[in-house]
Amino acid sequence: MNISIIGSGYVGLVSGACFAELGNNVICADNDVKKISELKKGVIPIYEPGLEELICNNLKKKRLKFTSSIKDAVKASEVIFIAVGTPSLENGEADLTGIENVARTIAQNMNGYRLIVEKSTVPVETCSWVKKTIAAYIKKKYKFDVVSNPEFLREGSAINDFTHPDRIVVGVESAKARQIMTSLYQPLNRPILVTNIKSAELIKHASNAFLATKISFINALSQICDRVGANVKEVAQGMGLDNRIGRHFLHAGIGYGGSCFPKDLDAFITIAEKIGYDFDILKAVRNTNEEQKKFVFRKIKDALWIIKDKSIAVLGLAFKANTDDLRNSPSIDLINALVQEGAKIKAYDPKAMEKAKRFMKDIVFCKDPYQAVRGADCLIVATEWNEFKELDFIKIKKALKHPLVVDARNIYDPGQLKKLGFTYIGVGSGNE
Ligand code: NAD
Repeated sequence: MNISIIGSGYVGLVSGACFAELGNNVICADNDVKKISELKKGVIPIYEPGLEELICNNLKKKRLKFTSSIKDAVKASEVIFIAVGTPSLENGEADLTGIENVARTIAQNMNGYRLIVEKSTVPVETCSWVKKTIAAYIKKKYKFDVVSNPEFLREGSAINDFTHPDRIVVGVESAKARQIMTSLYQPLNRPILVTNIKSAELIKHASNAFLATKISFINALSQICDRVGANVKEVAQGMGLDNRIGRHFLHAGIGYGGSCFPKDLDAFITIAEKIGYDFDILKAVRNTNEEQKKFVFRKIKDALWIIKDKSIAVLGLAFKANTDDLRNSPSIDLINALVQEGAKIKAYDPKAMEKAKRFMKDIVFCKDPYQAVRGADCLIVATEWNEFKELDFIKIKKALKHPLVVDARNIYDPGQLKKLGFTYIGVGSGNE
């Protein structure tokens, strides 16, 4: 099929490269001219395992093209995915300007039937607005369908998630749209759930809100565990073995972050409010998440007493492992809070430092974890990179001024570190 993907970020690039790999002709479009000119040269603006090879391979085979002309992309493709950003406005609402913009451009440039696929995460009823917008701006009476096809990939494992999803959700209202969407995804051989459009839109917000709820629940439990001397990892294991609960998303830590959960929760709460429902549960989830970040900060403060002028090594800047994405990263929030109290931060992250350097001017970036801990009063692990699970702690102990480890992601065995002579502070490990 001839496909265009409008918006070439994490979702657009991964979807575009994967659809090309499946044998489709794909045009990835974006209004960021610089990004597109780099992409044409094979320079990938994000770190995502396997993406560079996939893009370069499909560029060579001429199944994948890049353009900054949304017009040209619309003219050339029957199926058009919208994968632009939908950030939060100040009041928590999703900013749908990009979606509306693209819908208008599609309307003004389509030259035959078009299937418009809403892939960005959007509030329920956005597809109706896209449909109304296209109908209002269309030049000739070309036929078109709008479908909702929310994306569930996770940064860090995006290609595998895209090609092996637990389910593909497609919200449609015509047989033709259903047929095109199912044949597009059929080569993946994964379950396809076809629903009405509003249900599909809701499935995405509901799924993210539910996952965030699981995280906040276990984080709240971590605070209980600390107070009574229980171990949240054991509690999570005991809960997770119950099939009705499942073990995923029960890892206590520093709180969730990233470009999706915080914004999607805000948007879901706001849309619920608009239609007359007070989504109290989600407000509590959001508050618990903010509280968890403060909880970790207080632990550090309790351990160091005075933060001013302390040298603190922070390992991990990205909002989670295997990505360079710093959007709403709890690590950045923590660093900002520490800097505000006068700490001197030395940081290391395997992939996110180039992006961090652009806006973090008050900290020192190090070439590896060992350089970061040299002479530091404390080591904080803020992102769960595998590299940090394999550190040589004998070397770390020698380099630190004080053998204090704050494990904000609960990746270490407290017993082992204590045996080596460290003061270990985890999240919900009862601080035994
Ligand atoms: P991103 O910021 O990485 O990419 C968005 C791209 O859209 C940018 O390159 C931007 O230049 C482009 N863009 C914005 N407005 C445009 C316009 N009017 N015309 C053309 N291009 C435009 O965002 P992302 O992380 O890829 O997310 C995109 C959407 O997918 C969001 O709604 C997000 O919630 C959702 N989503 C993201 C993930 C994820 O893990 N990142 C997962 C599932 C769903």
